[in-house]
Amino acid sequence: AQSALAAIESQQAINAFLHVDPALTLAQAQAADALIATGNAPALAGIPIAHKDVFVTRGWRTTAGSKILANYVSPFDATVVERLQAAGAVSLGKLNCDEFAMGSSNENSAFGAVLNPWDTKSVPGGSSGGSAAAVAAGLALGTTGTDTGGSIRQPASLCGISGIKPTYGSVSRYGMIAYGSSLDQAGPFARSARDLVELLDPMTGFDAKDSTSAEQCGAEANAAGRVRRAFDAHAQPADADLPLKGLRIGLPREFFGAGLAEDVSAAIHAAIRQFEALGATAVEISLPRTELSIPAYYVIAPAEASSNLSRYDGVRYGHRAAEYTDVDSMISRSRAEGFGAEVQKRILVGSYVLSHGYYDAYYLQAQKLRRLIAQDFQQAFTQCDVIAGPVSPTVAWNLGEKSNDSVAMYLADIYTLSGSLAGLPGMSIPCGFGAGPVNAQRPVGLQLIGNYFDEGRLLAIADRYQ
Ligand code: GLN
Repeated sequence: AQSALAAIESQQAINAFLHVDPALTLAQAQAADALIATGNAPALAGIPIAHKDVFVTRGWRTTAGSKILANYVSPFDATVVERLQAAGAVSLGKLNCDEFAMGSSNENSAFGAVLNPWDTKSVPGGSSGGSAAAVAAGLALGTTGTDTGGSIRQPASLCGISGIKPTYGSVSRYGMIAYGSSLDQAGPFARSARDLVELLDPMTGFDAKDSTSAEQCGAEANAAGRVRRAFDAHAQPADADLPLKGLRIGLPREFFGAGLAEDVSAAIHAAIRQFEALGATAVEISLPRTELSIPAYYVIAPAEASSNLSRYDGVRYGHRAAEYTDVDSMISRSRAEGFGAEVQKRILVGSYVLSHGYYDAYYLQAQKLRRLIAQDFQQAFTQCDVIAGPVSPTVAWNLGEKSNDSVAMYLADIYTLSGSLAGLPGMSIPCGFGAGPVNAQRPVGLQLIGNYFDEGRLLAIADRYQ
């Protein structure tokens, strides 16, 4: 913990951390030392981690990257925070992110952009950019993040580390500041699949405080130990020379079309050849509504966001305008001052698609598409065991390159949104680098998507490759 705190101090320019409190961290570390001395310490005892600033924490401020929550301190810990602490992990503090997790480049944070440690001219991805950059820069062994439409997989890919979004419902959303509640799911970032198991396993499990928490995962209860057991079971290959023998990897035609950069495509194909060398068979599949996942997502997510963000009214939480004439002007001024441009845009879009006369044309249509997209995946899983493809159509782009063009930014989410709409587990593992100078290499991530509650197997497959 001490050396991690020193590293954070020396790497402030990356802007990955929003709040640190060394005294609090070191007190947790001492408690972990005492546990370790008993010889009966939990698995993560003393391991320094950090949380995306959308998980509420008792000791540290929680801002969700927004000015509206700039001074907010929660009276309780999110379930994810509580469970990782119970597993012995030591918290280093809170990580920068796009405001209310809206973004793909971490340039929407009210507290400044995060820089990608591989090439500080480039973005780390978003919205969990601080979480990915902190692991990539060696500031923490693991971090937490949230993924609504790609915010774990995409920054993991752009920062050359590993990250997993588990099945919707496997990790509690209690104490996670809401963006799009039917899509939001927490998960970990780390350097390897094996490290992800150590973090995801204790995070996982039913929580009565989250109304969409899954109690059962197939025949099994949703509890800590589930991910690790599945990982261990799949990590024992029948054939040591061909550890992935019999595994069918589905390659969706729509993930390899025009729009995929050549350097990314080359790295993904090289990774698939390596899977084949390990015994897997590649099969071509189709996810015919891949392109439609963009408009469907960018209707549903803002609709839910507009509803979730109505709680920031200057009365109960966060910023209140200094000057106002009546209650209405107090609310509207507080919101106008507190929310950034992208958040305001999404509140407008969300309110519009939910309003009378437009609901049927937009929101209902998007929900129907969502169902069809989920069905397409089930059809695909009759032909393959796991789906593989790119996470992002390009390597990390330059800071500022897309920040004035929301649509270009939304289009870059094409390979992550459909899995989110279907609620499926997905991960990103590093699989090479794009074209570019060796002193400023930009990483490429391979996406693996599994069927519901198959995160243990996904991690075991990733571990074979790594
Ligand atoms: N880029 C997507 C968005 O802006 C996804 C963000 C996320 O997963 N939190 O909504």
